[in-house]
Amino acid sequence: VSAWAAVPAGPPDPILGVTEAFKADKDPRKINLGVGAYRDKQGKPYILPSVKKAEELVRTSLPDKEYLPITGLADFTKNAALLAYGADSEPLKQGAISVTQSISGTGALRIGGAFLARHYPHSKAIYLPVPTWGNHIPLFQDSGLEVRGYRYYDKDTVGLDFEGLKADLKAAPEQSIVLLHACAHNPTGVDPTPAQWAEISDIVKEKKLLPFFDMAYQGFASGNTAKDAFAVRHFVSQGHQIALAQSFAKNMGLYGERIGAFSLTTASPEEKARVDSQLKIVIRPMYSNPPLHGARIANTILSTPELYAQWEGEVKGMADRIISMREKLYNALTHDLKTPGEWGHIKSQIGMFSFTGLTAPQTKVLAEKAHVYMTSNGRISMAGLNSGNIEYFAESVDKAVR
Ligand code: PLP
Repeated sequence: VSAWAAVPAGPPDPILGVTEAFKADKDPRKINLGVGAYRDKQGKPYILPSVKKAEELVRTSLPDKEYLPITGLADFTKNAALLAYGADSEPLKQGAISVTQSISGTGALRIGGAFLARHYPHSKAIYLPVPTWGNHIPLFQDSGLEVRGYRYYDKDTVGLDFEGLKADLKAAPEQSIVLLHACAHNPTGVDPTPAQWAEISDIVKEKKLLPFFDMAYQGFASGNTAKDAFAVRHFVSQGHQIALAQSFAKNMGLYGERIGAFSLTTASPEEKARVDSQLKIVIRPMYSNPPLHGARIANTILSTPELYAQWEGEVKGMADRIISMREKLYNALTHDLKTPGEWGHIKSQIGMFSFTGLTAPQTKVLAEKAHVYMTSNGRISMAGLNSGNIEYFAESVDKAVR
């Protein structure tokens, strides 16, 4: 009898299931709003021109294929930290930020989870927003942390449950870990305002919580990398020690290259050196050392002034296209179709995703009758909309909610 005879079948991934149903649908009007990857005006995957140029520069420099150090390409990690923390950051200027390359954002979160489980002396509890990116939950559980939730989203207003959030963070035991989406909260598209961030920072300070920022969308939310880093930089300026996961999947379109960074702010260069040594001890038995290619591309962009300027324009182009789709969808529903309900959240939400407020039965009807696919929580990827399909999508939503 097979060693695996008793292995039970696990549930399918909810997002990949949407893509499978979409692929099997033969209707030419079909739309996939499940995927978390940017699509251009024609609905096609988009390789940033700055990335193409960077790849060309890397190729012509004929680099070798030797192993990277355990914590990755040193120039890349230096530049990634600069992008996130900004040149004015005190711990950055002091040389007190410990940073490692990671297997994109997921890998950064996982290194962070494993490091905190081993070395954070105060608590093993991590508070996640409800809802959050689905993978956060198993990721932190598998890292050895105890996952708990704090209120984040208010169904009734399709907005932030700020009172609930504050009450839950105030009720958390002192020195717990709290995960914060730095910008473009996934799946809701609902972010705190700068004033609300300042209040959250005060509560985090009062309760001595350890803030762990997940920044998967820097630049992609507003079109401006500094604006999207506001929360991270505010917390650092307020003297918090933070943990930070960065991803270059969305803002450079480097999804499958798996390039990201994990960092911790420390009290001194001497402490940083000790933390660095322990990060290596966490990473070495996981995958030895990270892949080369994405680090070279990202670093070429971050370290070449003309390419950096071009990239900033291209990130803004992606963000602006998404913002314009929000505008169009809102107008189509509210003004053209007079669709029942309040749709202001479509415009006020930010980033790739929007929580439409559509119910699970409505999303089922949309898939079966209109060939429009999204996750059953009513989340749509705005990047899947374009001038060729947005009217059809709005009409389909209108029919589904009447
Ligand atoms: N964190 C959030 C909130 C995300 O939405 C994603 C991707 O969808 C990630 C992290 C990690 O993505 P990746 O591992 O592709 O960088």
